[in-house]
Amino acid sequence: MTIKGWCPGAHRPMAAEDGLILRIRPPQGRLSREQAHGLARLAETYGQGVLALTTRANLQLRGIAPAAHAMLLDELAALSLLDADEATERTRNIAITPFWQAGDGTPDLATALAEGLAGLHGLPAKFGFALDTGPAPVLAQTSADIRLERATDGTLLLRPDGAAQGQPVSPEGAVPQALALAQWFIASGGVKEGRGRMRAHLATGHTPPGQTWLPPAAPLPPPVPGPRADGLLAAFALGELPAATLAALADLAPELRLTPWRMLFLPGLAALPALRGLNLDPASPWPRVFACTGAPGCAQALGETRALAKALAAHLPAGQSLHVSGCAKSCAHPAPADTTLIATETGFTLNRPGTPARTGLDPAALLRHPEAIFGPD
Ligand code: SF4
Repeated sequence: MTIKGWCPGAHRPMAAEDGLILRIRPPQGRLSREQAHGLARLAETYGQGVLALTTRANLQLRGIAPAAHAMLLDELAALSLLDADEATERTRNIAITPFWQAGDGTPDLATALAEGLAGLHGLPAKFGFALDTGPAPVLAQTSADIRLERATDGTLLLRPDGAAQGQPVSPEGAVPQALALAQWFIASGGVKEGRGRMRAHLATGHTPPGQTWLPPAAPLPPPVPGPRADGLLAAFALGELPAATLAALADLAPELRLTPWRMLFLPGLAALPALRGLNLDPASPWPRVFACTGAPGCAQALGETRALAKALAAHLPAGQSLHVSGCAKSCAHPAPADTTLIATETGFTLNRPGTPARTGLDPAALLRHPEAIFGPD
């Protein structure tokens, strides 16, 4: 068993100070009622009673005793939440729009792509696919290397990330052509020492094969929590989903879809009762607040992050983002935020675009005067 690495899976967990972290990638990006109940039970039995929603639309269990790993894998397999092996799990890196509609073909594309990827070798671990094939594109800000999306007239498009336009593909040809594009990426030298991303590859002058190119429909901004015409988006502080809340949601919703915004989408639901950790406020800061594990869970952390981020969230100005990181690696949110706090050996460093960095900040002082963080300097 390998227990270190940047991309944990279920077969290949990551070791943390408080036990193993297992990442679960639900097939088609959704959980049935039975799977949700099962995961809630596993989080209570083997973990810390909480599941983490990730920005890759996955779920994580942490605090797993190494001795329980094999038993947990058996349980995940019984719930149809385990890939055949580590290589299959690692390659099945597919972000799926949660807003797909019955009859639009998205679940079938996800299944066919997963099956095709199982036979494809040589892609980097972070290389991913986005199925943005719902009524409107929503995954433009979600990391992916090969995208299936739609033109304004609904035509399916295959677009390498970094290209402005995509090639029209038929529903039957979409997956074979996506896999062929991935093979072109490998064959044209996109992978170096096991790493590589499509956008960087195109930026160095490599041109993917294709004759006809069309622009995709304009992407929508990331959605906010709360009711929508097609269901409910449920947010949780820092993506922390209490197991009891997951079980309660499973009783209320026949299906739960994962999203890359650390929210759950519950299709067809218009309202929910109050549940622990649940936030349906469209103005909620949680989709805009990021914090890594920090101390004491991560051995590399130079400070506590999650309690600080939760305390500061209430003061975050509307529309702004906050990232609290336990060290400079910025695992939780590699992209720049409006306000970033990074723990160092001598206190936190505060970074805000356009202003000089402030160093050596004491977290207790930050909490006493949060306006000094977010307000004008
Ligand atoms: S950013 Fe640093 S402290 Fe936070 S989880 Fe990553 S390695 Fe650990």
